[in-house]
Amino acid sequence: GFCACSRRRNICSSPSRLQNYMSAWVIDQYGSNGVLRFTEEISLPVINISSEVMIKVNAASLNPLDVAMRGGYGATLLNLRRDPSSVLSSSNEFPLILGRDVSGTVVDCGSGVTHFVPGDEVWAAIPPWKQGSLAEYVKLTEYEVSHKPKSLSHGEAASIPYVASTALSALVNAGGLCRESCADKRVLITGASGGVGTFSIQLLKAWGAHVTVTCSQNAEGLVRGLGADEVVDYTAEDAPQQLELMPKFDVILDNVGGDTEQWAMGLLKPWSGAKYVTLVSPLLLNTDSMGLVDGTFQAGCALHNKAFENMLSRGVFYRWAFYAPDGPALDDISTLVDGGKILPVVEAQFPFSQVPQAFQKLEHGHARGKTVVKVS
Ligand code: NDP
Repeated sequence: GFCACSRRRNICSSPSRLQNYMSAWVIDQYGSNGVLRFTEEISLPVINISSEVMIKVNAASLNPLDVAMRGGYGATLLNLRRDPSSVLSSSNEFPLILGRDVSGTVVDCGSGVTHFVPGDEVWAAIPPWKQGSLAEYVKLTEYEVSHKPKSLSHGEAASIPYVASTALSALVNAGGLCRESCADKRVLITGASGGVGTFSIQLLKAWGAHVTVTCSQNAEGLVRGLGADEVVDYTAEDAPQQLELMPKFDVILDNVGGDTEQWAMGLLKPWSGAKYVTLVSPLLLNTDSMGLVDGTFQAGCALHNKAFENMLSRGVFYRWAFYAPDGPALDDISTLVDGGKILPVVEAQFPFSQVPQAFQKLEHGHARGKTVVKVS
């Protein structure tokens, strides 16, 4: 294909690289950690849309989605997004590059890019249907990219974009919260010690909400340090009773799923616009197991029934939330970070040579913030 080497001097000036190729961790099939493969022979991404930017990856981070996608989670819907013609024919998504967060430097821009120039330090959350950041270079559209906070290193910055974009989608779009409306709001976050939770606590405190969280006892210091007002150890026998004794909540952000909604729905203020927002929905699992049409239909029915039932019986909204790419929203987060309102929570950092170990760490569970991979 077309080679943009002459335009991309920064890339091709690297003496150790074969021209047009980059190193990356890829998978060639779905499976457990053994499917991760390091290679130096992945074709460099090529800018073929005028709004695209090429980023040299300095750091990436892992999310539970990476572990799930390594095993094939979401493949049906994601393949449809990668290649709409895949409904009719079997598509080939391999070699697939995982990694949803990037912090790095712009090295090339399409002719229509207006917000970035080569040399800009940027961060972004990469949509799951695009090639990821466990590679030397990643290509995104400028709408997905934002200038990285100046006060953070690349490793710290890489810990934030995907969880931030997810938290914003959940709290703002699904939960109806915003900076201006948070002052008198009570929010409960379940699973607050992980990536999304540790970010959400800080965002909500920066916006002035009252924040109650559930987490394991040994995470109490962490979440209090990030600003949580009330902390309930979910492993304590009387955890549900402790929560029931508290004033009712305006929004619940559920990072845990399972039976959480059964005991937590009653903690919302009835008939006042309160919202239960869960990040753990069966949509992608259903489409993987039942196919696109049946799976989407089944998930849609489940959502509709739950939403209807909860509105009728309790007067509360029930919603699913999903990550959504949003570069401009990350600009606002960048300002909060540089203003000292939001800190990165990096639990572990692995070198690029140890990507399988980073996946192992994530699979072990019990995250306390984020796991970062230093790529270059
Ligand atoms: P993490 O793995 O970083 O964090 C999960 C946290 O929950 C851990 O700290 C874990 O610690 C804690 N936890 C586990 N069980 C419970 C429980 N019963 N009660 C309270 N805390 C618990 O995940 P993320 O924060 O990145 O994501 C949260 C969830 O949201 C995941 O399920 C993820 O797949 C999903 N997600 C969905 C997205 C979407 O688009 N819908 C996007 C992003 C995330 P410990 O076990 O030690 O208590």
